[in-house]
Amino acid sequence: MNSVYYRSTRSDKIRITSGEAILKGLAPDGGLFVPSRIPTLDEIKENMLRCGFAGADRCQSREDFMKLLSALDYRELAFEVLRVFFTDYSDDELKDCVKKAYDKKFDTDMIAPLVKKDGRYYLELFHGETIAFKDMALSLLPHLMTAAAKKNGIKEELVILTATSGDTGKAALAGFSDVPGTKIIVFYPKNGVSPIQEKLMLSSRGKNTLVVGIEGNFDDAQNGVKEIFSDKELGKKLLERGYRFSSANSINIGRLIPQVVYYIWAYLRLIAQGEIQAGESVNVTVPTGNFGNILAGSYAKKMGVPIETLICASNENKVLFDFFGTGQYDKNRRFILTASPSMDILISSNLERLIFEAVGEDPERCLLLMSSLKKTGRYELTHEEKKTLGGFIGGWTDEKGTLDEIKRVFQTSGYVLDTHTAVASSVARRAASGDADMLSALPANPGLSMIVISTASPYKFTGSVLSAIEETCQAEDDFAAIGELSRITGTPIPKAVADIKNAPVLHSMVCGALDMREAVTGFLK
Ligand SMILES: *Cc1c(COP(=O)(O)O)cnc(C)c1O
Repeated sequence: MNSVYYRSTRSDKIRITSGEAILKGLAPDGGLFVPSRIPTLDEIKENMLRCGFAGADRCQSREDFMKLLSALDYRELAFEVLRVFFTDYSDDELKDCVKKAYDKKFDTDMIAPLVKKDGRYYLELFHGETIAFKDMALSLLPHLMTAAAKKNGIKEELVILTATSGDTGKAALAGFSDVPGTKIIVFYPKNGVSPIQEKLMLSSRGKNTLVVGIEGNFDDAQNGVKEIFSDKELGKKLLERGYRFSSANSINIGRLIPQVVYYIWAYLRLIAQGEIQAGESVNVTVPTGNFGNILAGSYAKKMGVPIETLICASNENKVLFDFFGTGQYDKNRRFILTASPSMDILISSNLERLIFEAVGEDPERCLLLMSSLKKTGRYELTHEEKKTLGGFIGGWTDEKGTLDEIKRVFQTSGYVLDTHTAVASSVARRAASGDADMLSALPANPGLSMIVISTASPYKFTGSVLSAIEETCQAEDDFAAIGELSRITGTPIPKAVADIKNAPVLHSMVCGALDMREAVTGFLK
């Protein structure tokens, strides 16, 4: 067996299995866990050969093998990809996790359809329960966690604590809802999320869920959660009661690796749908915030998927665009609220994993740069280090460009983009046409097939999408806007939002930012 271990980006001492890394979330030295090596498509082939998968023995070339893979469904592919990264899990464990994750919670059997519109290919990652891409990983993570707990002899129930500014909270609630052996507690700023986001969370059904509004902002909620996590005495007390804290945030390797699957899937769909020949190169554009999604794309590329350029698309909070242009990361700037709020981020935490690669996997150098980020808000790569980032370019779109893109794509093809996808779509369109404006560089080969990662349904950001398409249309509130958007665009309302207005409110707890600890201990009585 070719085992893969997980190590920290900030020191050489830690070497653990994927199951342990998934339970820990963050490394004890503050670093992020990375795989000891990135497995390849050839290892997937070896596994399939070993298991006697029909046709695997007849694949002479990588191209043959990709054609064979393109006949798998999403679940089968997910199993094969997870299997080469999470080598400490048994085949049965992984199959079980995949089966529980990608089931009827998704509104299409395809799980992630690839649709051709306006000359590009949009990979729709919003067919899960909360109609955004975080469902892709958060549907799987709870099952990876409980399987890891079991195999590592952990008897306690896992308690997931999350602070959310809206989207992640509901996706985590949906993922963990009624998963045996887990409880989930979500804190959100009482007056800091949209009415639809709030209603989605407050109508969560799982008996193991608790949703609490905080009298404070997102930072208060986040700090409160951090304090509870670092309170050793509380941790000990709860351990005696049979509970163990865990975290589901986006730096968890159990969220990153499931995202690798859909990049391979997208490429295989192009083959299956007769759009490209196996082996042909493509470009991919990703609407980016925390850098988790696009990093998974770079892992797929390392595995052997012919992705030529990964285009990192930012909104007006364009720290990453500047980084790819200059090699300098600098978060000292005004924070801008945009119509693509899930990308309003000045510290992209998953970028640390790319930095680790760029510095030649030298944990001391990585730690130095991250310490500099913490102290001064900036760091700079050397010329040599920056050269390793050649497979990436940065691009950005301002607010007007985002809304214009929604309108343009709707008018030319009748396809409705959400605001985040629109940022990427606008960048992708300019990159493909060789227009270097607002790009850190042009793709090496602009003419290749372009995949745009579509991260949310337009029904998640109905107000902005509606105003982009019909400037004169003023819906009474977000709920009314849902019906309006459907009427004007002729698109069906996804089930997740259709039910939301009349769904019963099942959570009503509100507490002060200093009382979060009591809320937790009360729930875990
Ligand atoms: C989280 C999110 C993003 C950003 O993804 P990262 O992995 O943080 O870069 C983009 N779009 C939507 C809709 C999101 O929810």
